[in-house]
Amino acid sequence: MSQGSGIPYSTEPPLPPPPPEEAEVFKCPNCGAPIEVTPDSLVVKCRYCGYIEYRNPGYDVFVFPSLSREEITRRFWDRMRTDSDMGKYINKISIDSITNIFVPFYIVNYDAQYFFVGERKETRTRTVNVGGRVVTQTEVRVVKVRDSGSVSGVDAILGRRHIEELGIKELSTQARQLDISVAVHASEYKWKKEVNAVMGFDIEPKEVDAIARDLIAEKLKIWVKHKYRLDRLNVYLCRVNVKDFKAVLVPMYIITYKFRNAIYSIAFSGVDGRQLVAIEPVLTKHLAMYLGGAATATFVASLALPFAFRWGHLIFLSVALMIGAGYLVGRALGGVRFER
Ligand SMILES: [Zn+2]
Repeated sequence: MSQGSGIPYSTEPPLPPPPPEEAEVFKCPNCGAPIEVTPDSLVVKCRYCGYIEYRNPGYDVFVFPSLSREEITRRFWDRMRTDSDMGKYINKISIDSITNIFVPFYIVNYDAQYFFVGERKETRTRTVNVGGRVVTQTEVRVVKVRDSGSVSGVDAILGRRHIEELGIKELSTQARQLDISVAVHASEYKWKKEVNAVMGFDIEPKEVDAIARDLIAEKLKIWVKHKYRLDRLNVYLCRVNVKDFKAVLVPMYIITYKFRNAIYSIAFSGVDGRQLVAIEPVLTKHLAMYLGGAATATFVASLALPFAFRWGHLIFLSVALMIGAGYLVGRALGGVRFER
């Protein structure tokens, strides 16, 4: 969790953390208690009286309004009740904590020109007549592909360098599809006391152009490989032009819940309440599924063993098998699974 958010992240009793080195302290205008502020704090909250204040960072920041805690709680229970697995255990589930976080993004409008030279493997089967017998031949040829083109789009770039919260990747995907016109200027947004954390930007607007150009060029590289079904990319040139960008805060919720003496989490978008990602219990039926998968993989691989003539192959296969089975069993015994 960011040290610079100014608002404690957990809902635990307020134990003041050691102040970050560059933190300064100012007096709460409401109750006079000390509030620690770091240079990238966007919103500060008094931990004694709940007074909340937006601090203008010197550039415009827009906020996507967040659903309320009650609304998210309702979504959580709806989701649990309708879940084919968890629905049966509804009275064994209890909510442990609900955390409302605002995540900083830059919504970037761009256009880009690309040029590439690559290779694609094409497989052709044909039947030929060899001395009166019809034989099927498979031919693999490598085709050189080159093309250029231009694209334009919208992307969401994280406004902080290191965020490790659950669901951030999924929130990024949602962020670039959001309708910016529903966002409110941060100075006019009605900040609620129930907010747990507003993460500040540690990437400044003047850095966005360079960072966005690199990130988008890398993403377009994957897109080009996919679009042209390339197996190899020999030359890739991409020039990204950032047309404009906006600094935004996107709300999300993390709900942790207790089930059979363990804690699990679900991340929800605070914009529309959709589930971003869930870490869920492994129930007996999943355990059976994973072990069944491991057994099947072992069986299939054992069929392949007689074809592994050389010891090198044999050793390689055995190691691969052990790793594969170990992974599946580990996942099953680890007790969690991800659902997106
Ligand atoms: Zn106060």
